[in-house]
Amino acid sequence: MSVGKTRKLLDVARFSRSPLCHFQHRSVYTHSQLPETHKMLYKSVRDFSEAELKPLASKFDREHLYPGDQIKKMGELGLMAVEVPEDLGGTGLDYLAYAIATEEISRGCASAGVIMSVNNSLYLGPILKFGTQKQKEKFITPFTTGQRVGCFALSEPGNGSDAGAASTTARKQDKGYILNGTKAWITNGYESEATVVFATTDKNKKHRGISAFLVSKPTKGLELGKKEDKLGIRGSSTCSLIFEDCSVPEENVLGELGMGFKIAMMTLDAGRIGIASQALGIAQASLDCAVDYASKRIAFGSPILKLQAIQAKIADMALKVESARLLTWRAAHLKDTKQPFTKEAAMAKLAASEAATFCSHQAIQVLGGMGYVSDMPAERHYRDARITEIYEGTSEIQRLVIASNIAKEYGL
Ligand SMILES: Cc1cc2nc3c(=O)[nH]c(=O)nc-3n(C[C@H](O)[C@H](O)[C@H](O)COP(=O)(O)OP(=O)(O)OC[C@H]3O[C@@H](n4cnc5c(N)ncnc54)[C@H](O)[C@@H]3O)c2cc1C
Repeated sequence: MSVGKTRKLLDVARFSRSPLCHFQHRSVYTHSQLPETHKMLYKSVRDFSEAELKPLASKFDREHLYPGDQIKKMGELGLMAVEVPEDLGGTGLDYLAYAIATEEISRGCASAGVIMSVNNSLYLGPILKFGTQKQKEKFITPFTTGQRVGCFALSEPGNGSDAGAASTTARKQDKGYILNGTKAWITNGYESEATVVFATTDKNKKHRGISAFLVSKPTKGLELGKKEDKLGIRGSSTCSLIFEDCSVPEENVLGELGMGFKIAMMTLDAGRIGIASQALGIAQASLDCAVDYASKRIAFGSPILKLQAIQAKIADMALKVESARLLTWRAAHLKDTKQPFTKEAAMAKLAASEAATFCSHQAIQVLGGMGYVSDMPAERHYRDARITEIYEGTSEIQRLVIASNIAKEYGL
């Protein structure tokens, strides 16, 4: 399959496999220490985000516009399937590359960041890991270019954090399954042309009775609910997927029957690295905006950046951004080197989402009145940041995941 052959990031990917690139999978602490591959990626994605996303992000937000043209360009760059191997049409880079790219995209536009993250980690991720070759060709390759995006349907109106309580059912019939139930809050719900959906095939087995299915969209028996009117990330769509006697063929079961909950949890572990990166992008954009404004705004005869009270805010923001980035890159590095990363991904997501909320709050304070109006991006960052503490596991759930892993480390 040669879909990805023309894509610019593939040149970067090829370089990563060349003997020149000695530093793959070494822990890195700053952008300047990154392997050459990742430095090139960082620079090209940063330039793209600065030129193509940052100037339009407030329009996407204000008008609730899906950034379709920009997502296609991101596809051309190889950003919509960063981890997918080249033979399936992807870019064939690692998760550290994906984390760096997602941060830079989100720094320009947090909506584009979540659209990218859902397609990469929540949609393509589980199919890459658990799909058959036939499923990969049908449900991965056409979704690598940005022309089509996918979604991930786990949450329901009655259960979000308690995902094991899924009430959507999949009833066996002759040549497949009949799905009934409602999935809520689905990112990319409007634009997506396929979904990974979770439904109970055996209610008696509780979460062990949940299975995962691949469903093309549109399809008979699947309707969309209204587009949610959100506080932030308003350039991405969020809606319910309503299944009413929706027929799904047997060959669209992802993994084995009853494996759905495990697939969902493993997918979310990796997804949290993506959301941590999205949050980092928002936090960094807030810091950029605060420093820029503070260096220009004159009060009491000099730029406010000279005031120690403002310097303390800048220092606290930078500290939170850089420590969250270290945690995020560490989680990506562990995943890339095939080591356990559940606790580390939860730590990264928790720290980065709290950094995003903190930094966007402080940026408004540094900008004063100008922070409170939509002429400047600070108020959008503040609204965009909030969701990162909620989706792909709330901060309370991240703390549970971290604590249960710590207990295991103590042998408890
Ligand atoms: C914009 C947006 C996009 C989303 N995208 C997707 C998507 O693409 N796919 C998808 O499947 N879902 C998606 N979601 C759903 C999201 O993952 C859930 O909203 C989230 O997991 C929380 O679930 P809930 O809303 O049902 O809250 P609840 O689970 O009802 O939680 C309410 C509160 O109780 C707390 N709480 C719950 N259980 C515990 C516990 N055991 N200990 C301590 N505190 C607890 C929570 O932390 C929270 O503060 C999205 C949500 C939003 C808002």
